[in-house]
Amino acid sequence: AKAAGKDRVVSFDERLRADQLHRTRTVDGLRAAIDRADFAVHYQPLVDLRDEQTVSVEALVRWTPSDGPPIPPDQFISVAEDSGLIVPLGAWVLRRACLDAVAWHHRYGVRLSVNVSVRQLREPDFEQVVREALEASGLPAHALTLEITESVLVADGGGQAITHLTALRRIGVKVAVDDFGTGYSSLAYLQHLPIDSIKIDKAFVPVEGPEGAQQVSLIRAIIDLARSLALGTVVEGVETADQARLLHNLGCQLGQGYHFSRPITADAVERLLAADRALAY
Ligand code: C2E
Ligand code: MG
Ligand code: MG
Ligand code: MG
Repeated sequence: AKAAGKDRVVSFDERLRADQLHRTRTVDGLRAAIDRADFAVHYQPLVDLRDEQTVSVEALVRWTPSDGPPIPPDQFISVAEDSGLIVPLGAWVLRRACLDAVAWHHRYGVRLSVNVSVRQLREPDFEQVVREALEASGLPAHALTLEITESVLVADGGGQAITHLTALRRIGVKVAVDDFGTGYSSLAYLQHLPIDSIKIDKAFVPVEGPEGAQQVSLIRAIIDLARSLALGTVVEGVETADQARLLHNLGCQLGQGYHFSRPITADAVERLLAADRALAY
């Protein structure tokens, strides 16, 4: 047993070192990829649950190395955050997404959401970075929503983040709390934050089965609370028509998820919006 225990310690240590090596390689790879702009921005529609029309799109970054398949954000965002590389990468995503979205906004009134990390919000010039992305693209400030996770607003350093967000809201930019319900903030705390809407995490979307009824009461409570605070409501991770109908009946405004569309390329967004609007008239 003692020998086995020792083996376990060694292999754990090795695994740590392997993980460290992997992260170091990822940081080097990321830095080079940022220099070459080896990334693509895909977009996932947010639809009005009343008629399933696309009212907004969320920018989701993909790492697209020339010599391999695209790498999803779950595999590099945390490394980008820890190393600080999320600051230049996030600025690139913001500029790229504003340039893509301006035509969709002018033609179809569609809005844009962009994810922002805490590291970006700690930079003294974050507000300027956003203003420049808007000016360079011509996208009006009111057509942009920044998605921030709730921990950003509650943790230390929330002060700087809140200062930036308050200033940006003054020029018309909207702020959404992403992955709502997975963090630590109390629901009551929401009313003190500079935010316009919440995106309820996919973990709260009711599934079929015995837990269903309890899940429905939970998400109903969240939607009712958001509405009583005059906050917009979006649910992410809607995968079935039944879920979409239920969430609409519970009073949720917008939905996002594979049931409506997966994240798609900018070209595919063009086609989707043209087809969407052709159907509506
Ligand atoms: P998020 O902002 O919560 O984005 C939603 C994620 O859920 C996306 O994963 C999306 O593809 C996935 N998703 C959408 N609909 C469904 C569904 O019906 N079912 C399921 N199971 N999943 C669904 P993705 O694109 O892999 O992005 C993962 C996370 O990476 C994002 O979560 C966001 O936190 C982060 N991220 C992506 N792009 C950026 C970026 O440009 N900057 C920063 N800071 N973070 C980003
Ligand atoms: Mg998001
Ligand atoms: Mg989310
Ligand atoms: Mg989420």
